[in-house]
Amino acid sequence: MLVNMKSVLEYAGQKQCCIGAFDTPNLEILMAVLNAAEKRKEPVIIQHAQLHEPEMPIHVIGPIMVRMAQEADVPVCVMLDHGEDLDYVKKALDLGFSAVMFDGSSRPYEENVRLTRETVRLAGQYGASVEAEIGVVTGHEGKVFEVTSVEEAYTDPELAADFVKATGIDALAASVGTVHGFYATKPKLDFGRIETIREMTGVPLVMHGGSGISVEDTQHAIRCGIRKINYFSYMSNAGVKGVQKLLAEKEVKYFHDLANAAIRAMEEDVLQAMAMFALE
Ligand SMILES: [Zn+2]
Repeated sequence: MLVNMKSVLEYAGQKQCCIGAFDTPNLEILMAVLNAAEKRKEPVIIQHAQLHEPEMPIHVIGPIMVRMAQEADVPVCVMLDHGEDLDYVKKALDLGFSAVMFDGSSRPYEENVRLTRETVRLAGQYGASVEAEIGVVTGHEGKVFEVTSVEEAYTDPELAADFVKATGIDALAASVGTVHGFYATKPKLDFGRIETIREMTGVPLVMHGGSGISVEDTQHAIRCGIRKINYFSYMSNAGVKGVQKLLAEKEVKYFHDLANAAIRAMEEDVLQAMAMFALE
């Protein structure tokens, strides 16, 4: 069933665990994520990032995401990831998305507040939830991006508290030491900062760049207050490896055999991620 982000994060809050949010810019990833969620009988968030528009337009995949969420046996939130402008946010809401993230983190603070408030007002008309971000989680989903220093981009807890109060958002993406994409150096999470931001803002926190963080660090972050983790790169890469393995084993004539191998491999990766997010 289709649900908004607020209800999914309430579930995570009650269980003191975390919900996985997976970008699904093609049908194979979408099927892999929903198969995994149904196998685990757990809520899940499926997302379309605005930067994936060249790979997959939202007007094509969006209605499929909403339909599959409605038909799923588990609660599924359909969310816009990293909305960069209000026109695109409105497009997602008009397609039936139940949550949107507005990312004004690279804009001046006052402008980020103004546009995030506008997003909250707009989403409210649709009964949709809102996530926004301050502090910059560098890198990009789906792009290989090498990052050597993320320290200057950490979210300031006091500013985070002001931002949540001024905007009325349901969840805050905080920069606490992760990056998007693949890591060039070992990630260094600031657990104390997660706790401080959680206490000072009072909203569920979101960690972007969930790939490549150890199980131990991921679960430590969840215990400190992370309730949603955006996870994409390793899942997508698992699909590539699944295809490579099949091609090494035998000659493949039909594309659907490659697609199915990718789905199986990504489903396996999502199952592992979901178990980690459930603190298993
Ligand atoms: Zn992100």
